[in-house]
Amino acid sequence: MYGFFFIPLTLVTIFHPLFWAFGVLRHGLFHIKIIATEFLVVLLSAIFFIKIFSYSNVLELYFNIFIFTITTFLGYLIIRSVLKEVRTRERMENLAEELATANARLRALDQQKTEFVSIASHQLRSPLTAIKGYSSMLLEGSFGKLSKKTYDAVDRIFQSSQRLVLIVEDFLNVSRIEQGRMKYDFSTFNFKELVLRVVEEQRPVAEKKGLEITFSAEKLKKYMLMADPGKISQVVTNFIDNSIKYTPKGSININLSQDSEKMLLTIRDTGVGISKETMPKLFDKFSRALDASKTNTGGTGLGLYVAKEIMKAHKGRVWAESSGEGKGSTFFIEFSGDSVK
Ligand code: ADP
Repeated sequence: MYGFFFIPLTLVTIFHPLFWAFGVLRHGLFHIKIIATEFLVVLLSAIFFIKIFSYSNVLELYFNIFIFTITTFLGYLIIRSVLKEVRTRERMENLAEELATANARLRALDQQKTEFVSIASHQLRSPLTAIKGYSSMLLEGSFGKLSKKTYDAVDRIFQSSQRLVLIVEDFLNVSRIEQGRMKYDFSTFNFKELVLRVVEEQRPVAEKKGLEITFSAEKLKKYMLMADPGKISQVVTNFIDNSIKYTPKGSININLSQDSEKMLLTIRDTGVGISKETMPKLFDKFSRALDASKTNTGGTGLGLYVAKEIMKAHKGRVWAESSGEGKGSTFFIEFSGDSVK
């Protein structure tokens, strides 16, 4: 009476293992996780397949066939999802490998760029020194008196070459920092005297713009610092120079203070201020406020980055505060720990 079911069941018996064998072969026999899942599913299917034949009535036969079909179908779904997961992982591994290669290549390119900037900047330095030197001599009258018109033209050459020297120096500093070649000459010196010297150097530039520049420091403090005076002078000059450049009118107030552990230089200006958007990137390489060129066309956006790196090498800190655009800015230079003597 059950012979009716026998033919399809025989077909299933023949094709079922073939179906799985095909699946296993097609999707790669070598992957342990896939093999284990496939083995388990085949085993379960085989058990339920055998169980089909142990029935006592038609209902039980249908039930057994149903269980076998469901098990096989679910098994197929599980294998498919395991395969998918394995494939995704393989793809991710490949991507990670490709990314690592791309990263290595980018690092090599970055290194080449730094070397190029370094070589180019070195090559620019000597002709620039000649341009600056000769234009300065012309202005001083070493080659005879100049007419007003010629004087103005040569003065422009001199000012531009001076700006270029600073830009080239910034580029050289950045490549030195990136190549880890920045050299520091540490010694003990009076920081207050250094700041005063920079303020006096910058005073004529500020006054030419009609800006008031003041310096204050609490008396009776020693202000002795263990640092590289040349590099620290560069940082202080950059901050004061910036406060002059980015302040169309008003004043610049510089204050120095010291306690037992820290020394803090504050440079407060009444200038263009810093927006909330610019603030987080202020000390990044090539970072300039969107409208920075309105107040200062010649900037490179490297000065603050170099200053930050120099201060890092001194285990010090630099940061800025501003209430927003048009509300002035305050820059801070802080030394602590062993630097403060
Ligand atoms: P540069 O002045 O050559 O552009 P810096 O690295 O010295 O480069 O400064 C980066 C940017 O920070 C400037 O372009 C300017 O937008 C902003 N900035 C620096 N100092 C001030 C300041 N005192 N007031 C307002 N903005 C400033």
